[in-house]
Amino acid sequence: MTVVRDVPKQLFIGGGWQDAESGRTLSVDNPATGEELCRVADASPADGRRAVEAAVAAQADWAATPPRVRSEILRRAYDLIIARTEDLALLMTLEMGKPLAEARAEVAYGAEFFRWFSEEAVRIDGGLMTAPDGKNRLLVTRQPVGPCLLITPWNFPLAMGTRKIGPALAAGCTVVLKPAPQTPLTSLALAEILTEAGLPAGVLNIVVTTDAAGVVEPLLRGGQIRKLSFTGSTQVGRILLAQCADTVIRTSMELGGNAPLIVFDDADLDTAVEGTMVAKMRNMGESCCAANRIYVHTSVAEEFATRLAARMAALKVGDGTEPGTDVGPLIDEAGRSKAHDMVRDAVKRGATVLTGGELPEGPGCFYPPTVLTGISAEAAINDTEVFGPVAALLTFEDEDEAIAAANSTEFGLAAYLFTQNLDRALRVSERLESGMIGLNTGLVSNPAAPFGGVKQSGLGREGGRVGIGEFLEYKYIAVPVG
Ligand code: ADP
Repeated sequence: MTVVRDVPKQLFIGGGWQDAESGRTLSVDNPATGEELCRVADASPADGRRAVEAAVAAQADWAATPPRVRSEILRRAYDLIIARTEDLALLMTLEMGKPLAEARAEVAYGAEFFRWFSEEAVRIDGGLMTAPDGKNRLLVTRQPVGPCLLITPWNFPLAMGTRKIGPALAAGCTVVLKPAPQTPLTSLALAEILTEAGLPAGVLNIVVTTDAAGVVEPLLRGGQIRKLSFTGSTQVGRILLAQCADTVIRTSMELGGNAPLIVFDDADLDTAVEGTMVAKMRNMGESCCAANRIYVHTSVAEEFATRLAARMAALKVGDGTEPGTDVGPLIDEAGRSKAHDMVRDAVKRGATVLTGGELPEGPGCFYPPTVLTGISAEAAINDTEVFGPVAALLTFEDEDEAIAAANSTEFGLAAYLFTQNLDRALRVSERLESGMIGLNTGLVSNPAAPFGGVKQSGLGREGGRVGIGEFLEYKYIAVPVG
């Protein structure tokens, strides 16, 4: 494949492409075939240190670069990403598995973070006020926090990177990006694009590694990184928060979810089924916003289940590069086993399979769209993100019961509700413990909106007007006026 051949396979440090010091490489595989696509340099801790040194060396000049210049680099990169939509989409489909149509949608979504933050770069504001005693003037400015470490997962190879790189660069921070080892190619392609857009050497550095723990910990303890922005599991997030505590590094944490989706008896069922398909099946269910527990009012439960199962059964599972594919493979064998184990666990505890639920034969990490009803309270799927195309249907009788069930999780990222009653919509939205609510829609992600969670789903917000603030520090200057 030319798109794979054309992507650099080395680490990107200080504006140059370099092999890992150890000479080691890692394998990037196509989850649809199980075959190796290519090999990429596999960084060791020494490579990580060199990347941080490059980011530190570039920090002062980048912070002093006029906002308009930073803005225009991001804007040019946006244009280049859009112009290369087909290549980037194919690259993502090959390394991650999502169908081409979804990959194209991610290119548009991911690119938008660069356009949005190119616009924010020139709107970093401050303030001037008179102190209450009338003496001092309080002058407030905002400065970049400094060199940042950005750690991203594999499920949205482009958008998870641009959502962090965009605001960091707009704010005047230099960065080291550590993408997931399953999907490094999109990030490496992005480095080329940013370079072509005029990004100076050292402002963006990319370290790909199979030894995430070994490479990252010394960087967080090294005293030079001032900010960690992480998207991944709550389990790894906790470890990183502990490491950041020791050197008091600022963090943004986008962690796991366990999204509830509630269908009330006054919902428009067409909208609810459609919204559930999106909330459940976007990205094959491999999204931290994916609906994980679907609560349906008993009076509409049977009809909803029948309609959802029919829609799910009609989806075409296959290689994401083939036209007409709706559902690609899961990321790897571990991801597929996790989803299948959760289905088996639910069935063992009394669930009924309306469609799917069988492991297919043959190569590739495919899993069929699956609908389960009659989930018992003990089933693992109630507490754990399935991260796959499995819809678990539960029922409820009244609003309080639905809200209590929805909130009975340590997570709080996204929640969805379907109702035509405005009072109820607002009342329930306010009571749901989650950072984001889809009201009669299954899609909440939007670069212009603040993305993030409460409880153990994370800290901080990405995107929107607040996204750039995660990479800025206030500075206050006291000015006595005689
Ligand atoms: P997922 O289950 O989606 O792979 P992870 O939290 O394991 O979620 O991974 C998200 C990102 O965190 C990836 O880039 C991964 O390499 C990285 N990662 C995993 N473990 C660690 C660790 N101990 N320290 C730093 N980064 C890690």
